[in-house]
Amino acid sequence: MLESNQVSPHRMTSDLQNLIELQQIDSQIAALRAEIAALPKHVAAIEAKLAGSKAKVEAAVAAGKADDAARRKHESDIRDQQQKISKYRNQSLNVKTNDEYRALMHEIQFAETNIAKLEDKILELMVAADTRKETLKKAEAELKADAAENDREKEEARQRTAADEKELAELATRRDDLRAAVNEDVLRHYDRVLKLRGTALAAVYEKQMCSGCSVLLRPQMFQDVMTNQQFLTCDTCKRILYYVPPPPKPEDEKSTKKTAVPEPAPPSEDSSSASVS
Ligand SMILES: [Zn+2]
Repeated sequence: MLESNQVSPHRMTSDLQNLIELQQIDSQIAALRAEIAALPKHVAAIEAKLAGSKAKVEAAVAAGKADDAARRKHESDIRDQQQKISKYRNQSLNVKTNDEYRALMHEIQFAETNIAKLEDKILELMVAADTRKETLKKAEAELKADAAENDREKEEARQRTAADEKELAELATRRDDLRAAVNEDVLRHYDRVLKLRGTALAAVYEKQMCSGCSVLLRPQMFQDVMTNQQFLTCDTCKRILYYVPPPPKPEDEKSTKKTAVPEPAPPSEDSSSASVS
């Protein structure tokens, strides 16, 4: 799994190599678990969107039904008014006085005004019905698209979860192998720091600092870490330290195939300038 070209494996203790891979695997496991945990929330968000589309369609259908009911009511009211008019007309044939006649004519006029108003309302509903039909058509199209997207994304989430779980199982196996190979005390330290800080290892480069907490190492400590042969921890953050040599310069690579970590420079008081000789 670990294909690190930065580290020279033959110069590193097997514990260090195993720990580096173990940390990679623990990070991958944490990322996969986070992904698996996030997927149900993603699915819930998709479902909520679909429910919103369904509600829009239902609202459009309900509005259409309400309009139809209103229209039927207006039509029935018009019939009532028309019956009244017929009745008044019949009565007008038998009235005795002008006053009675005028009163009936007034009633008829009143009913006709009512009918005109109701017909206006029906016309308004008919105009609105066209808009309603468009709204419903649009909502139904959106619902159809959302339903298809919902199915697709849910299937995708299902497949992703299955793949993640398969990968997790593989990583767990490799993790067990690695842990079995590492010294128990070292492993205990690793677990403690991992739990506390999220990472248990820190690389050290030419800048001579712990890459975990950025604290500069003491010169002697740096010399020791450079050997990659000891179990050393950062004084500040307690992460396990390992040295990563700089990549070989192109001209060196051509002349001699030097891949090994150079021998540490002899300890000196001024080791801030300690460089590979
Ligand atoms: Zn540190």
